Amino acid sequence: MIPFVDLKAQYKLIEPEVKLAMDKVLENTNFILGQEVSLFEEEFAEFCQAKYCVGVASGTDALHLALRILNIGPGDEVITVANTFVATVLAISYVGAKPVLVDIDEKTFNMNLDLIERLITPKTKAIIPVHLYGRALDMNKILDIAKRYNLYVVEDACQGHGAWFNGKRVGSQGIIGCFSFYPGKNLGAYADGGAVVTSNQEIYEKLKMLRNYGSPKKYYHDFIGYNSRLDTMQAAVLRVKLKYLDNWNKQRWANAQIYNQKLNGIGDLILPQSSNKDGHVFHLYVIRTKQRDKLMDYLVKRNIQCGIHYPVPIYALKAYAGLGFKENDFPVTQELSKDILSLPMFPELSIDQIEEVVARIREFFS
Ligand SMILES: *Cc1c(COP(=O)(O)O)cnc(C)c1O
Repeated sequence: MIPFVDLKAQYKLIEPEVKLAMDKVLENTNFILGQEVSLFEEEFAEFCQAKYCVGVASGTDALHLALRILNIGPGDEVITVANTFVATVLAISYVGAKPVLVDIDEKTFNMNLDLIERLITPKTKAIIPVHLYGRALDMNKILDIAKRYNLYVVEDACQGHGAWFNGKRVGSQGIIGCFSFYPGKNLGAYADGGAVVTSNQEIYEKLKMLRNYGSPKKYYHDFIGYNSRLDTMQAAVLRVKLKYLDNWNKQRWANAQIYNQKLNGIGDLILPQSSNKDGHVFHLYVIRTKQRDKLMDYLVKRNIQCGIHYPVPIYALKAYAGLGFKENDFPVTQELSKDILSLPMFPELSIDQIEEVVARIREFFS
């Protein structure tokens, strides 16, 4: 069987270190906001080239708290992309703002930046660019639009840990960057977890309270906050894993190049292209084919796990039926949702495994 993501293969490589780190937390019993949390926050901020980091309970919470801290709420509009994980849009709904969706670009499968400006209204408060599949968006273009219309940029970097654009890490260029440490992410904990990074001191100070019941000091509450903290055990795991992240991302890139080379010219496949080595950390390796459903079925029957990211675009989700989106408004997302297929992708994926996947795909098309 070739898994979609092999968390165990990675665990086996770092098992002694992880066990030691977790044991230390058990010995200290400082489970909530223990020292490992603040140490991880410092290290992850530095990794992202941001001044500050605040650990929270999930990527969804990171996005939610980011919009709260910026005072975005009812009557406001927030622009994001039609093809993303639902959590990006849930965060907008949580604060009572209206999600406005941009169609995607046929080549990058990411937000089409040329379509943003026409969606801006006097109610627009923020743009949430999503570095989907691990591909860094052109942040210069987005920051330029945001500056001209006086909008906040909150980066959804939940799939982009470690990707660069123009010599800068994703997550550090908007006013706030949001990360998820869901186990399958490029930097994954062993439970839910998330983080917000920012270089704005005022936002940082407030976020630390917002994730902790709005409390500057135990039993004193300045505003209505949340219980949304990165737990100490997960911070300890993440500190071990962060040291390997750049290398793991390089291995993902190398695996993607091997896939690209070996899949080139087979059937009607369209392969992901990226000329910028640092700009794509291949959280997912996504191909296109008109025979997607049949190919997926063929691979799954031969014990090769694959996925679709995402089978139902945001505007077609039951949860968002009330927003009145029309699928004709998103022709590229609509078409791609029928064509895209994510193949097994993780740093430890072996050449033999890649060759097996490629052999089965070749077999399918012959
Ligand atoms: C995973 C993910 C999230 C949500 O993160 P959780 O930690 O699962 O809450 C948000 N946005 C994107 C693009 C994601 O991939």
